[in-house]
Amino acid sequence: MAHATPSAIRRDFDVIIVGAGLAGVTAARELRKKGKRVLLLEARDRIGGRTWTDTWRGSQIERGGTWVDQLQPHIWRELVRYRIPIVADSGVERAILPTLTGFQEYDPVEAYTRQNELFTPFFDGSRDHFPRPYEPFARENLVKPLDRFSLRDRLDQLDYAPEDEIRLTSTTSLYGGSSTRGAFTHLSQWWALSGWNFDGFHGVNTYRPKDGTIALLKAILKDAAPTLRLNSPVKSVVQSNGRVKVTTRSGEQFSAPEVIMAVPVNVWRTIQFSPPLPKAHKAASTAGIGVPHEKKLWLELKRPADTFVAEAPEGYPICIMGRLNEGDHAVAFSVKDTFDVNQRRQVDNAVRQIIPDAQLLSYTATDWHADEFALGVGAFRQPFQLTRLHRQIQQPHGKVKFAGADIADGWSGYMDGAIESGLRIAGSPTLTGPLPAAVANSLGAPPVDRRAYRPLRGL
Ligand SMILES: Cc1cc2nc3c(=O)[nH]c(=O)nc-3n(C[C@H](O)[C@H](O)[C@H](O)COP(=O)(O)OP(=O)(O)OC[C@H]3O[C@@H](n4cnc5c(N)ncnc54)[C@H](O)[C@@H]3O)c2cc1C
Repeated sequence: MAHATPSAIRRDFDVIIVGAGLAGVTAARELRKKGKRVLLLEARDRIGGRTWTDTWRGSQIERGGTWVDQLQPHIWRELVRYRIPIVADSGVERAILPTLTGFQEYDPVEAYTRQNELFTPFFDGSRDHFPRPYEPFARENLVKPLDRFSLRDRLDQLDYAPEDEIRLTSTTSLYGGSSTRGAFTHLSQWWALSGWNFDGFHGVNTYRPKDGTIALLKAILKDAAPTLRLNSPVKSVVQSNGRVKVTTRSGEQFSAPEVIMAVPVNVWRTIQFSPPLPKAHKAASTAGIGVPHEKKLWLELKRPADTFVAEAPEGYPICIMGRLNEGDHAVAFSVKDTFDVNQRRQVDNAVRQIIPDAQLLSYTATDWHADEFALGVGAFRQPFQLTRLHRQIQQPHGKVKFAGADIADGWSGYMDGAIESGLRIAGSPTLTGPLPAAVANSLGAPPVDRRAYRPLRGL
């Protein structure tokens, strides 16, 4: 890969891609294959964006996106292509779930079976609404009236008994940021993508690249070999005379006939566009597609020391946490706006609110909302955003195109969606269903019992 020096870069690129997350590097590879000269501009000092493999207290951790699945064909195909080794989380010994009178411990399979019973009716009709899961508008006439419903509306429709509903809200609040923020159509489409069943839906949390998500990013980038420029936050994107001029915060300028913005939708509003972004793009960025206020924490716990998953009702500072493999650190997620992960006492209290005798030795946290190059975590649309904005914000703005997991048609909000979007924007074919079993299995991923309790999907 050519690491460019400032003086080497002028206007000799066919395409400038802004953002070296999975969408950006995928688009770069595809365009390079087509013979294009590609400049990849990345704000951070690293590639990967909302994926971030790091080391903490001697262990490899993911501060962002982590889990992958065979049901996610775009990312799985990339893992197969580069022979990236995969491991499976081992599952947990106990599940700690909320009841109306406090937290209670369950056998994982018993807990899983009950979650299955409770969640399955939540998605009644999903097969009709999303018969071709990668085409969210295949039955637009059915999806349109549905898109006004939040996850809270759906919970209300089902009229769960309070002791049942309390068990579902850690999921609905985590995915949506809050049950009132998240759109029912988004979760219903994920259910469809998972094969319209709980095993699939639940199981997308099972596998992860052994050497971290960075292993895949590096493999794609090496293949792409674009001119990569790190530490180059883009300040403005100006179109005139059939070209696009991109200016970084340090004042460097690059010009090309075409630009791909592979940055989060939430970030669009921080970049100056001339002519200004169309109404739909502005509206999406202002309201946000990436879930706000989400923090991911890694916890060094002296107690408990076993493998467990604990879920909390909506409104708790931590909505889900657990240790998925013996000897690993525990991981936790929060979507609570007032939870300040910089305050050790708040983190301590949040952990002990769920497990009173927990003993926290140390922790590290990533606040994705506070991160200026993310301004949120993965995508989860709000009511009306699918039917009123999704198609519009996939459209180019003159010579400026848009890519990213936030605007993917299929697994929007997942790494798979980032790759899908990167392929599409580069004019390469995308996939519309699982890979043939022979290809998917060629990676030798260990078989897993999908009934084990493993709901630790982080957005
Ligand atoms: C805590 C967390 C947990 C998650 N868990 C999972 C999971 O388990 N499984 C899963 O599949 N997905 C998960 N996701 C979602 C997944 O990580 C994202 O959907 C996906 O990585 C997004 O890829 P992207 O390329 O679209 O965007 P990004 O990865 O955000 O890439 C955009 C890039 O643009 C750069 N950028 C931003 N602004 C500028 C600028 N002004 N100038 C230049 N560059 C800029 C950013 O630095 C970034 O590198 C999770 C995300 C988070 C944060």
